Amino acid sequence: MTLKEALEQSEEHFFDSFYRKLPYRSLGKDYSNPDNVNGEICAKCGGECCKRCGCEFSPDDFKEISFDYLKSQIEKGYISIAIIDSELIYNDIDILILRARNKNSPIIDFFTSNSPCILLTSTGCKLDYEHRPSGGKLMVPSENYSENFFGCKVHKCFSPYTIEDCCYEWEPHQKVLHELATYFFKKDYPCSL
Ligand code: SF4
Ligand code: SF4
Repeated sequence: MTLKEALEQSEEHFFDSFYRKLPYRSLGKDYSNPDNVNGEICAKCGGECCKRCGCEFSPDDFKEISFDYLKSQIEKGYISIAIIDSELIYNDIDILILRARNKNSPIIDFFTSNSPCILLTSTGCKLDYEHRPSGGKLMVPSENYSENFFGCKVHKCFSPYTIEDCCYEWEPHQKVLHELATYFFKKDYPCSL
């Protein structure tokens, strides 16, 4: 079915036909790995990764996945709804995810640019380790450097929770994320932290 055909159907049918109905699917994550936390390395680095973009939430980071609950979380002003291009994740559709909001970016952040996370301060993240998005929580800091695409030296840190993993986990929840994106369109909430 084409997108045009799907759009001609009722909203319920649109989601049923355009998005696969999938069960909740959580990938295993090891939050207890001591390598995930090395405040010394991150303090010396000053948050290089957090200056590029807010990290990704997993559905597992939320007590429940429902419109009302996620709305109450997004209203805190530090979570954005982002779209991940299908080509980036080798998928047949673009995927909506939740991530920590970037400074000077709207809640509906469909054009995610390289800008610092709204929660980054001169002394680190405003969230304690337990409440950080999985994308940040699972990052393994490293003191070593590698060269990026532009030939700049960047820390060689590694996250076992990839953007593909994040999209895989959010795919069953596209309908509620679309409803939230519609609700938050042109709405703004200041960061409550
Ligand atoms: S995880 Fe790596 S890039 Fe991010 S703050 Fe720590 S050392 Fe820097
Ligand atoms: S939420 Fe915290 S760990 Fe994640 S990017 Fe923002 S400042 Fe960094």
